[in-house]
Amino acid sequence: MENIVRGELLTTGKAKSLFESNEPEYLIMHYRDDTSAFDGKKIESLEGKGTINNKFNAFIMRYLEEEGISTHFVDLINETDSLVKRLEMAPVECVVRNVAAGSICKRLGLEEGIDLKPPTFEFFYKDDELGDPMINEYHIKAFGWATEEQVDQMQVKTFEVNNALKKLFSDAGMILVDYKLEFGDFNGQLLLGDEFTPDGCRVWDAETREKLDKDRFRQGLGDVVESYQIMAKRLGVI
Ligand code: C5P
Repeated sequence: MENIVRGELLTTGKAKSLFESNEPEYLIMHYRDDTSAFDGKKIESLEGKGTINNKFNAFIMRYLEEEGISTHFVDLINETDSLVKRLEMAPVECVVRNVAAGSICKRLGLEEGIDLKPPTFEFFYKDDELGDPMINEYHIKAFGWATEEQVDQMQVKTFEVNNALKKLFSDAGMILVDYKLEFGDFNGQLLLGDEFTPDGCRVWDAETREKLDKDRFRQGLGDVVESYQIMAKRLGVI
């Protein structure tokens, strides 16, 4: 895409800002250094995080496209910005877990690190004030957050992403523990939207099980951006 010009600010999320562009069907996604956890209760700016996440996301989205999964990603614009298709987002988060960690451990009293076979799928309602509560497909349909077909597609596509990415990470010596995806409609087609970056997944070193993702920030382990860079180098992103 040539001659794309950044327009008005559309929305400001916790780590990204979304701008209009001079093309009505395309938006500019700007990755900031802001890092937040616990529904925005812990916030810090981590230098270089916006750049690494922008590149990481572009790499993963391109890889998924090659694997036959349609996404909203169009192109990298610069170090921190990407061009994406304008989607009508479903206000739900799709989480797949290959290994138990995070909220499932709290909810079910599990020890972190248990292999989940088969992997689990969970829907959450995107609402910080409510703490993103867990929901099921009946809630999504009853409240009109997505159609039955979209609900089915979200699950199928989220597992397709799992098959593709589990192998990608494992070939690079890492375990894809869990991740969150969001989908939206583009002219009647459901596309993977938002981002896939170390902010929205858990990834461990396959040998040491060292955490390389945003849990380093959540748990105050330090070297957050450095770990994102290690993950990116292993995958060949940078
Ligand atoms: O917190 P929980 O264990 O449910 O998170 C599961 C996965 O989804 C983690 O990889 C986490 O980073 C991601 N997630 C996210 N944004 C949220 C909630 C979870 O990226 N609002």
